[in-house]
Amino acid sequence: SRSLENKRVLVTAAGQGIGRASALAFARAGAKVVATDINAEALATLEGQAGISVRRLDVLNGEAVNAVVSETGPFDVLFNCAGIVHSGTVLEMPDADLDFAFDLNVRAMVRTIRTVLPGMLERKDGAIINMASVASSVKGVPNRAAYTITKAAVVGLTKSIAADYVGHGIRCNAICPGTVESPSLQDRLRAQGDYEAARSAFVARQPIGRIGTPEEIADLAVYLATASYTTGQAYAIDGGWTI
Ligand code: NAD
Repeated sequence: SRSLENKRVLVTAAGQGIGRASALAFARAGAKVVATDINAEALATLEGQAGISVRRLDVLNGEAVNAVVSETGPFDVLFNCAGIVHSGTVLEMPDADLDFAFDLNVRAMVRTIRTVLPGMLERKDGAIINMASVASSVKGVPNRAAYTITKAAVVGLTKSIAADYVGHGIRCNAICPGTVESPSLQDRLRAQGDYEAARSAFVARQPIGRIGTPEEIADLAVYLATASYTTGQAYAIDGGWTI
């Protein structure tokens, strides 16, 4: 059943984009959602929504992760959505970009999982959903070295968690979107100079003929929260990009 009645869900990067749409979708499905983000202003747009409480949280800060989880947990579902896109090839990539991408795209997930998983194991029930991308072990995408390297690591992390805890009531899956409408996508399009040309090129990547919506990705996150017979998988949701 798709109902998340009485389930407690922690979402990172819930201030905007896919994380925000997912916090709303989890709440609509009946969950009690703790929506977190580093950006308090963005989070404030969720304040007062039924089923959602907001907490500022920088997932780069392990102590802050521990504090939020001990104050607001335990959780039945963890949606690790925080991530950053760097541009550039491997030769153009500063070490600092790769270090930061590993910290935010990978290690932050390790931090939240280490903090939330013990409570899930006590109840022998838990669903972890990690935000990857088709730009990962699924597909090479030009000009996205640090991003593709680290999102591939998210798929590895997902499979590692799934393998270790499959006999303990824990499922862990990854979501691999193609191009999805979001504030940071708008920033990337504007950064190209010719916005319309950049947008057309991003639309053209999807054989389905358009960019996805955050709500379409949120639907998959809600599904994976209750999909009782799947674990360790990387779910592409990409308008046919990887056909
Ligand atoms: P976005 O990039 O517009 O927003 C990212 C959010 O993350 C912001 O609210 C920001 O404040 C928050 N954030 C940044 N650093 C943080 C930190 N240290 N701690 C907590 N929160 C932090 O949103 P989006 O484009 O929907 O991306 C969300 C996720 O989806 C990312 O992991 C991204 O890589 C992934 N993704 C996005 C697309 C896309 O096309 N939009 C495609 C594939 C995967």
